[in-house]
Amino acid sequence: MGRADLHIHSIYSLDGTDTIRELLEQAAYHDNLDVIAITDHDEIRGSLEAVELAPGYGIDAIPGMEVTTLEGHILALFIEQNLPPRRPLIETLIRIGEMGGMVIIPHPNSPLANSLHNGDILRAATHPDASKVLVGLEVFTGCLVVNSHTAPLRGLAQQLRLCEISASDAHVKELVGSGLVRFTGLSAKDLKKALLQRQVTPIIRFNPSGTRVIASWTRQTLHRRRNIFDYLRQVSAFRAEQSRRNRRI
Ligand SMILES: [Zn+2]
Ligand SMILES: [Zn+2]
Repeated sequence: MGRADLHIHSIYSLDGTDTIRELLEQAAYHDNLDVIAITDHDEIRGSLEAVELAPGYGIDAIPGMEVTTLEGHILALFIEQNLPPRRPLIETLIRIGEMGGMVIIPHPNSPLANSLHNGDILRAATHPDASKVLVGLEVFTGCLVVNSHTAPLRGLAQQLRLCEISASDAHVKELVGSGLVRFTGLSAKDLKKALLQRQVTPIIRFNPSGTRVIASWTRQTLHRRRNIFDYLRQVSAFRAEQSRRNRRI
C-alpha cells in the first residue's frame, strides 16, 4: 500500500517556509511517503520542480496547485499549467477538466481558511461538467488548529461519492504527513487510478496541537526571513511576476 500527502506548501507559497528539496527529503526519508503533491497558492512552479526532483528521492510527485476561486480554495491535481486565480468556481473546475486534471476540496467549511462551503460544494457536485473533475473532499486537515468538522464531512463525502481525503496542508516541513491517504500501489499513476475509483483510505496519523502548528510555522518563518527587507523585496517581485503572468493567461 502506498502513502500520500496531497496538500503541501513550499516556499513558492510565500506563507510556506521550505524549499522543494527540503520537503522531498522530509517526505521520503522521515515520513516514508510514496507520493506527494506540492500545492502552492496560485503557483505551479514548485510542484513542477518537485515532479522533476522526486525520482532522485525514490518517490513520485503530482503536479498541481491550490487555486483561489471566487468562492474559496480548491486543490487542482495532475495539471501542468498555472490557472488564473479569482475566477468563479464552476468556470475553474471546467477549465481543470479541459486540462485533464482532477480536484480535491480542501478544508471545507473551515472559518480558519478561505474555504468552500456546503452550498458551493453541492452546486459543483451537481453541475453536469464541473462534477466530473471532483474526486475528493478533505475531511481531515493536519495543520488546521481546529478539525471539528471531520465526522459531518465524512458523511458529505460519502453522500457525494467522493474520496475522503486526509492531508496535511503543511506550511512547514515538520508537519508533512500529519494527514495522509493510503492506496493500492506506490506511484502517482496508481494513486490517480485509486482516486478515480474512489479507493483511497484517509489516515489521521496524529493531530498536532494548534500550539505546535503555530510555534513551528513562526520559528521557521522568522528563521528564513531574518532580513525582513529582503523578504519584502522578494514578495513584491514575486507578486508582480504573478500578476504579469495572470494577465497573459
Ligand atoms: Zn487553503
Ligand atoms: Zn493549503
